[in-house]
Parts: sequence; structure tokens; C-alpha cells
Amino acid sequence: MKNIKITDLAHELLETEITKDSVIVDATAGNGNDTKFLAERVKHVYTFDIQESALNQTRTLTKDFKNITYIHDTHEHILKYVQNFDGVVFNLGYLPGGDKKITTMTHSTIDTLEKLHKNQKGFILVVAYPGHLEGLKETVAVQSFLDKHEIKYRVVKFHHETKNEAPFIFFWKY
Ligand code: SAM
Repeated sequence: MKNIKITDLAHELLETEITKDSVIVDATAGNGNDTKFLAERVKHVYTFDIQESALNQTRTLTKDFKNITYIHDTHEHILKYVQNFDGVVFNLGYLPGGDKKITTMTHSTIDTLEKLHKNQKGFILVVAYPGHLEGLKETVAVQSFLDKHEIKYRVVKFHHETKNEAPFIFFWKY
């Protein structure tokens, strides 16, 4: 049986929302897999990462695409760079194969979600991983943020036979 990953499910969900005319923000470029997936399907992708090495990985993976803007900055500044977009995608946690100490942090993730909430544009998709300590704090904080604002969201919890802490996808639309 094919080993299905949470990111495959996130991509399936994205397929139902994006079109060839969409402009999408990838808030966490990482190794570039989500950016590439999006660039193949939409008009333009703005991709952010605080690690230059991650952006370089993303640049290498997506070298054949002309519809990507690479931004070396925190996603807290998304609205400084992009005002018109159809959705924002977060794949939280640390860069696979990179420094596990450099991970998305609860305070900056929630700060970004608050800013996007004020802006009320498009959809938000967040893949969260409670299997490590900061990821657990982040997952709880995302859930509290959604509850506080009474946002109607969809959630997918990915059951894993061998891991206790299953990852989550949170998805909502403004
Ligand atoms: N989407 C990526 C992919 O498809 O390969 C995986 C993303 S990885 C799990 C998380 C990334 O978020 C890391 O590369 C990390 O440097 C980045 N990151 C952490 N905090 C950030 C922030 N405040 N703004 C932008 N990127 C951040």
C-alpha cells in the first residue's frame, strides 16, 4: 500500500481550492515541495522562509519555474509584500534534513494568523505537527486562535500506526 503522507492530503485539499489563476503564498518554503506543487498549478507563488538555505533548496527544486517570488523574510511580513492573494499555506515545524532548532515558533505563527485574520482574504491551510514540543504548543495555539475568533474550520487529523502524536491539517476560508 502506498505510504500516504499528511502533505499528500494537504495537496489534495489544495487541489480543490486553487485554479490556474490563483495567487498563493507559501509561508514556509522549506525544501520547496509545496512551492513546486503550487507553481505547477497556479498563476503565481510567493514563498517565504527565514533560512536562506531553505530558500536556496526551494530555488534549486523550482529552477524551471518563472512564476515564483522568493522572499527571505518571516511570514509575519507577508502583507508588506503581497496584498492580493487567494490563499496562504503553512507547513509548520523544522526544515526536514536541516537544523531542528530552527522551527516555526508559536508566537510568530499566531502573530501571522492574527494579521491574516484582520485582512480577511482567501483561504488558510496549516499543517501542524504536535509530535515535537514547539509543534505541540503551536497546534494548541492554532486551535485556540480558531476558537477565540469563532472561525469555522475543517480539520484533518492524520492517524499514524507507529506515532502517538498525529499531525493535523487546519483549513478555513474568509
Ligand atoms: N513547505 C516545506 C516543503 O514543502 O518542503 C516544508 C516547510 S518546513 C516544515 C518549515 C520551514 O519554515 C523551515 O524551512 C523554516 O526555516 C521555516 N520558518 C520558520 N519560521 C519561519 C517564519 N517565521 N517565517 C518564514 N519561514 C519560517
